[in-house]
Amino acid sequence: MDPQLIISKGREKSLRRRHPWIFSGAVARVIGNPKPGQTVDVRAENGDWLGRAAFSPASQIQARIWTFDTDERIDEQFFLRSIRNAARQRHGLEGSGTALRLVHSESDGLPGLILDRYNGVLVFQLLTAGAEFCRKAVVDALRQLYPDDAILERSDVEVRAKEGLQERIGVVHGRIPELVPILENGLEYLVDVRGGHKTGFYLDQRDNRLAVGRVAAGAEMLNCFCYTGGFGLAALGGGAARVTQLDASAQALALADRNREKNGFPTERMTTVCGDAFQILRAWHREGRRYDIIVLDPPKFADSKASLNRACRGYKDINLCAFRLLQPGGRLFTFSCSGLMEDGLFQKIVADAALDAGRNGRILHRLSQAADHPVALPFPEGSYLKGLEILVE
Ligand code: SAH
Repeated sequence: MDPQLIISKGREKSLRRRHPWIFSGAVARVIGNPKPGQTVDVRAENGDWLGRAAFSPASQIQARIWTFDTDERIDEQFFLRSIRNAARQRHGLEGSGTALRLVHSESDGLPGLILDRYNGVLVFQLLTAGAEFCRKAVVDALRQLYPDDAILERSDVEVRAKEGLQERIGVVHGRIPELVPILENGLEYLVDVRGGHKTGFYLDQRDNRLAVGRVAAGAEMLNCFCYTGGFGLAALGGGAARVTQLDASAQALALADRNREKNGFPTERMTTVCGDAFQILRAWHREGRRYDIIVLDPPKFADSKASLNRACRGYKDINLCAFRLLQPGGRLFTFSCSGLMEDGLFQKIVADAALDAGRNGRILHRLSQAADHPVALPFPEGSYLKGLEILVE
């Protein structure tokens, strides 16, 4: 018999609504001494069977549900079936592109597993004790489903520490090129799958890059927190007159310049600037610079409730700087990828920033993560990326 996790009376309600997380405070007792990551049967105090979950004793989230179906075993077939289903559900989403997220963790019923595919290179991350425990089954499933693909593991993520896991990175199968060329919305990008952020590229912004490209004709554009240049290249593709790519990472900017070259845009149309956005935007305001389009896509400022206040100040400050630099009639595309930052609060922060800058604006579109990063209905935590397209007066 599998070990069991008994949920305290009244604390099983979220599970009955198919939310996959079990917090330590909801656990009445553990029966049978499960190892970290091992599959446990989850039951209510009255004996009702609730689901099968991965046990994670080190984490606040002490277990994550793999299945709510009594008949479903958590074996190699489960991973094969789940990954295949997730990939099938994405048919057509890549459009003319060659890069797609195939598995988005809880929202695909596979808590702790991220799988991205870049032009025949699979990159996966195991974020939880449960996903780690099932590593072999995951790799076997990938080998079977994509026999011709190379496979890289990028489990070098801080959240693993919360699960009591060390970071790990390494080639699992095949040959991984130093940079993987991909296509997205008609543009080519080089992706540093070994050393880049996340699994190498911000696939979640795909649709938003397209949205920026659509309105970029003739524009003077500033891409702030540009990483390898995505939004800026999309703007150039859409006919922007000139783009300034700003980031604190010289390495990311070097790749942005290679991406420019690869797409045949001349150097006169793109400048890269390395430094701290908060300081540089202030200096440019003093110089009286102006832009028609500004994209703000900062890193996650809030990763815990405790850091939310400080994060709010960061978002407000950077948005204030951007409003001051926009031409009347210009557009601000402003984002937050902190899941803890709720839409309403984010809008309020941006509105306050505009007010302090003495500007007004209208929201034209609300933006979010691309459809290969779906949000399972019972799992609102899966929604993290939010953005506003604002027409500034
Ligand atoms: N928009 C990008 C992703 C941005 S990720 C895309 O579509 O690909 C956030 C970026 O902000 C990272 O590249 C990081 O290097 C950069 N960054 C973090 N802090 C910064 C700061 N204070 N000033 C400028 N860039 C910063």
